[in-house]
Amino acid sequence: MIWPVLLGTLGAVFGSFIATVAIRWPQGRSALHGRSACDGCGKPLRVIELVPILSFAVQRGRCRACGTRIAIGHPVTEVAGLVIGVSAGLVAPGIEGAVGALFGWLLLALAAIDLAAFWLPNPLVLALAIGGLAGGAARLPPPLFDRAIGGMAGFGVLWLVAFVYRRARGRMGLGGGDPKLFGAIGLWLGWQALPQILLAACILGILAALLLRRTRASDRLPLGTLLAIAAYGWWLVAVGGSLTLV
Ligand SMILES: [Zn+2]
Repeated sequence: MIWPVLLGTLGAVFGSFIATVAIRWPQGRSALHGRSACDGCGKPLRVIELVPILSFAVQRGRCRACGTRIAIGHPVTEVAGLVIGVSAGLVAPGIEGAVGALFGWLLLALAAIDLAAFWLPNPLVLALAIGGLAGGAARLPPPLFDRAIGGMAGFGVLWLVAFVYRRARGRMGLGGGDPKLFGAIGLWLGWQALPQILLAACILGILAALLLRRTRASDRLPLGTLLAIAAYGWWLVAVGGSLTLV
């Protein structure tokens, strides 16, 4: 039980940091400089108010000083970080689970920023790509060759889709970061995973559109967020499935 608890606790803390990054980075503010503060009145948070999830529950979702509602993104991202850590620790106790959790937390950061601002920051996508290559170099499955093909195929396929759409419709259908993200996902999971991840992301998108009743063509859904959720889900099923077979 040590791995799920350890990774889950780390995940809640990372989730708290990721929520701050996702809110501040698109506004051009640094999450590293300046203390954590209320988004409403700017009052610095006390140590007790920094505890992920619990502080939100105790304060009933409001700032103690000014009563401003705490953005729901904070607890949602903290819970997501926790769930990623616990699930990775459960399906793969040990180093493979820790690496999988890292994959999930990077994807969570990208998903949160894309959801908040329709933006996939290059440094984060690059970190994800380097992590995928490093995993292959450290001889973690899948093999480096499959990862390299996945990187090129993931980027190439979505770049081509974006190119054809732009020529046919005269406007952007995909964000510029989506092909890069899909390539980075290919570098982690290998080319074999990509068709299923793209299909799962499309199904998630259709479900989200139905739930949110966004059916007009001008409405946008963040493809990066959908790809990120599908990619971590794929990793969980792949690793969890192989364990039960062993
Ligand atoms: Zn406040």
